[in-house]
Amino acid sequence: MAKRSAGAPSASRRRVALPLASASAAVPAGDFSEWLRSTRGAREQQRDVDVPCGECTACCRSSLFIHIGPDEHDTLAHIDRALLFPAPGAPPGHVLMGYDRQGRCPMLSASGCSIYEHRPRTCRDFDCRAVAATGLALDEAQRAIAEQARRWRFEHPTSQAEREHAAVSAAATFLLERGPALLPGALPSHPLQLALLAIRVYHVFASESGDDGERPSDAELARAVLTAMSQRQESAAAPAARATSVKRAATALT
Ligand code: SF4
Repeated sequence: MAKRSAGAPSASRRRVALPLASASAAVPAGDFSEWLRSTRGAREQQRDVDVPCGECTACCRSSLFIHIGPDEHDTLAHIDRALLFPAPGAPPGHVLMGYDRQGRCPMLSASGCSIYEHRPRTCRDFDCRAVAATGLALDEAQRAIAEQARRWRFEHPTSQAEREHAAVSAAATFLLERGPALLPGALPSHPLQLALLAIRVYHVFASESGDDGERPSDAELARAVLTAMSQRQESAAAPAARATSVKRAATALT
């Protein structure tokens, strides 16, 4: 999820100033295909996602629980343990960091993230352009992210960019509307996580025909989504409990 800070930018993540004069001003998000490959590549290779956040701290002020895995030793060393609690449904050692009454992360200071160079993987992975790409509606508590996401403007200079954007939108719609019934317990419930999942499995919706040459059935799509989910190395953001649910849902669909 989120990241940002007015602290020193990391070498791997050059921050670019954005035209923030107007809350409704459009912000270029670039070629959709290039963005899609970049954000997927970063996650697969566990690199920081490169988001031109500017001075925006919307994701740090949106009542989000920040997951931190047991392997994130550097991050854990910079956060007071009193701010952390066990992540429900996750193996021992996985923790969450909450937020204050204003929905702000306790690490957020007046000048940005106070632990920017040591921020959680969850924050390094977050890209609110995924919300813009999928069109998913967010909860009221995430209004700041939704407003930021509305400003992004993708370009579609090629038919491939148009097709890929349509596939990402279709993936998000399917996961939101059909996922709970077809894949009970296997999908995240939070729209932000659904948006990131849609980016991950969009290729399932890029094909216009199924096994028999016809439009894929919902069951075929659900099976393909599960395959795509299980192929991805399970990260701390997808705890073991959900991995088990994925296997259970796959069994139910066969
Ligand atoms: S640790 Fe908190 S303040 Fe820092 S980037 Fe993450 S959400 Fe924002």
